[in-house]
Amino acid sequence: MPLIVQKYGGSSLATSDHIRRVAGTIAATKREGHQVVVVVSAMRGETDRLIALAAELNSDTPARELDALLATGEQASAALMAMALASLGLRARSYAGLQLPLRTDANHTRARIIDLPTGVLRRDLDQNIIPVVAGFQGVNGNGDITTLGRGGSDTTAVALAAALQADVCEIYTDVDGVYTADPNICPSARHLSKVTYEEMLEMSGLGAKVLQIRSVELAQKYRVPLLVKSSYGSDKCTWIVEEAESMESAVVSGITLDRGVAKLSVIHVPDRPGIAYQILAPLAEAQINVDMVIQNASIEGYTDFTFTLSKEDLPKARPLLDQVAEEIGAREIRADDSIAKVSAIGIGVKNHPGVAARMFKALADENINIQMISTSEIRISCIIESKYGELAVRVLHDAFDLQQR
Ligand code: ADP
Ligand code: ASP
Ligand code: MG
Repeated sequence: MPLIVQKYGGSSLATSDHIRRVAGTIAATKREGHQVVVVVSAMRGETDRLIALAAELNSDTPARELDALLATGEQASAALMAMALASLGLRARSYAGLQLPLRTDANHTRARIIDLPTGVLRRDLDQNIIPVVAGFQGVNGNGDITTLGRGGSDTTAVALAAALQADVCEIYTDVDGVYTADPNICPSARHLSKVTYEEMLEMSGLGAKVLQIRSVELAQKYRVPLLVKSSYGSDKCTWIVEEAESMESAVVSGITLDRGVAKLSVIHVPDRPGIAYQILAPLAEAQINVDMVIQNASIEGYTDFTFTLSKEDLPKARPLLDQVAEEIGAREIRADDSIAKVSAIGIGVKNHPGVAARMFKALADENINIQMISTSEIRISCIIESKYGELAVRVLHDAFDLQQR
């Protein structure tokens, strides 16, 4: 009997009516003769609500407690979904991550999955019971609850599909697939029926939150057939695949916006060998990833050093940098969290030198100032003021003619 892992995101679980409707979809899948394992996110807005609540009580939330708190959102959804399924006459059982147990490393708030035994789930499936797994969470070697980073239920679903060798992993969300840009900010975005793992990795890594990047990595590694579809019913969907012919010819195939970035500048530092190391080493030690880095040309032996990092890491990075500034004799540290990263992605970028110029012109025509630039073989990213983020996506989408084709 074919086995399907179905993951339902928070937007699909906003109210009890939503949960009831999703239960109906699961029931229909069962009736079609499939085995189903369900993965659920927290109800819409719940994770943000819990994070805000934690911040009210402690500006430096202990990561262990934050994980213990956030995991409850998914646990509530799982129990509610199992109840809704039971009310339809189906047998269902909810599981928190630690009941499987989904084992992770010790890295709170961004843990990685180490092991995922399937015994409990297989036993349920054999008895015609639908397991409903709370996404986004696991347990570390100390028995403490961990979470997998924002959007982590996608990763739970793909990991389960890989471990169970499911026939397909279906990600149900509030859009009917992957588009050339976020359809909620770019009305002319074009639906894609297929996207390659490579392109999806870039898009997810650069802000297209429709799939968490780790879920795409896992799907590629374990060759999990991965599908994005709407929980509101639609004929369309997107397959994430190894090769997609139609996209190969596209110079730029997608535009993304990442609002989760912040910028830190170390102003007026003595320009001498080892300075970049001295600034960045304490951050690396604290497991803080740095993305784009710029060092200005030095004037009279002094320079400015600027880099971007995840907005979430800013509260942790700032005090570390204040300490470094004192040690190396920098004048001041400036933090800016009102920036966004807009990127043009496509396999054609490496062979078409005009892409960068086209991107810069499109932004200049709208008077959008570019603060930082970074390029790779298959993308160009610009840091801009966050208030222009959505406009930038739309003008770049037009500039690269993505609505046609
Ligand atoms: P869920 O709650 O189901 O996990 P998410 O909010 O995490 O949903 O992801 C779905 C959202 O991803 C969409 O509502 C859309 O705004 C956003 N998104 C960003 N980029 C894209 C893209 N290129 N294609 C489709 N959706 C995108
Ligand atoms: N509830 C978590 C979040 O909002 C995980 C998820 O939705 O996948 O990030
Ligand atoms: Mg999500």
